Amino acid sequence: MFINQVMLKENGVEMIITQFFFGYDWLRYNVPKWSFTVWLQQQQRLLTLDRLGRMGMEVPTECFLCGTTPETHSHLFTECVYALKCHQLIADWLHIPKSDIADCVKMAKKHGQSMLIRQITLAVVIAIVYWIWMARNTCRIDGYVQHPVHLVQRVKEDCRRRLLGIFQGAMKQFDSLWCHEKGFK
Ligand SMILES: [Zn+2]
Repeated sequence: MFINQVMLKENGVEMIITQFFFGYDWLRYNVPKWSFTVWLQQQQRLLTLDRLGRMGMEVPTECFLCGTTPETHSHLFTECVYALKCHQLIADWLHIPKSDIADCVKMAKKHGQSMLIRQITLAVVIAIVYWIWMARNTCRIDGYVQHPVHLVQRVKEDCRRRLLGIFQGAMKQFDSLWCHEKGFK
């Protein structure tokens, strides 16, 4: 599996990413750019500072979001105090363990009492990866760090907007109550 493969048209991207995530119908609830970012993140192919340094570029090493630790994939998405704060906010919202949020595939299999809830939960977790990467890029370019509370609020709004465009027709009562409680409908 090569990056060039995903530089094809959007359908090609979706097919490859879907296979990567073991056939879950999760793309239905995600924006393709979220999915693509997570696909790269899962393979540690985003251009983090450690990668850029290994490519010979003269770049700073410290994480833009916390400024205390060298930026790597594992730091940025699972260890950084910024990411951990975002994970905590998502965990509190969806009532899932914070420690599970960093592993999208595990998350999809483990949490939720219905397929719909698992898919929505995964959509949220994928969105937060994308938005942490965006927060990092914004800080790198503009020198501004968005507060985690505001970032998570953006995730909620994006997911809600995405899901409202998909939900139509009847829904199981349990799913309907859960979606209402979490603000998805
Ligand atoms: Zn950091």
